[in-house]
Amino acid sequence: MNELISAFTERVLDTVFPGGIYCICCGDSLEEASGHGLCAKCVEKMPWAPENPFRKYMEEFAFDELYPCLRYGLHSRRIMNALKNGGRPYLARNVAYSLVERLSIEEELPDFLVAVPSHPSKMLRRGYNQAELLAHYTAGLAGLDYVRGALIKTENTASMRLADARKRRSMLAKSFAVSEEFKEKCAGGFVCLVDDVVTTGSTADACARVLKEAGAEKVCVLCYAASSGYRKPEE
Ligand SMILES: [Zn+2]
Repeated sequence: MNELISAFTERVLDTVFPGGIYCICCGDSLEEASGHGLCAKCVEKMPWAPENPFRKYMEEFAFDELYPCLRYGLHSRRIMNALKNGGRPYLARNVAYSLVERLSIEEELPDFLVAVPSHPSKMLRRGYNQAELLAHYTAGLAGLDYVRGALIKTENTASMRLADARKRRSMLAKSFAVSEEFKEKCAGGFVCLVDDVVTTGSTADACARVLKEAGAEKVCVLCYAASSGYRKPEE
């Protein structure tokens, strides 16, 4: 994402749609401005679920912890859809408030924040990568170090749908790489991988795998919503 364009877009969008006036979930006007952009009713009915839903299956994954804000479902889908497909990148700042709140309940804070990269073709279509925006705002709000471009998407994995679980994993692991610059930085460090939604955990796993190979000591995954229906793949 071009920094100038994004700074400009943000400024323009702030003018046209001032942040904190409408609820990002139901669209009602907000009585008072709130960082996470949600009205009191939505805050009440959102399925907040900060515990790791994959707890029982952690030996399956290369990441050490998963920090979600919500259980994946109707509400998070609506907000993520507006962020990803609705051309409303400014929602990332609201979502980042919740991510910061989630992260702040942990005792140990990460050394670096990195984003799950998206394929260049998606970037072209959408103009931005929502995970990058989330990582950028989260780092800014929390005073943490976001390393842009730390992870690189090397292959388009669009044809993976037909592959079985094991094949999928090995294909996925090859589709991410750590930048040479970050390899030097992350050795021995605690890296926090930011994504919008974690469903099966395989993307986060693939990213965590290459980060660990690059020498990261600990990798956690911070996301807005995580699916609670994880099932161990049959192999
Ligand atoms: Zn609402």
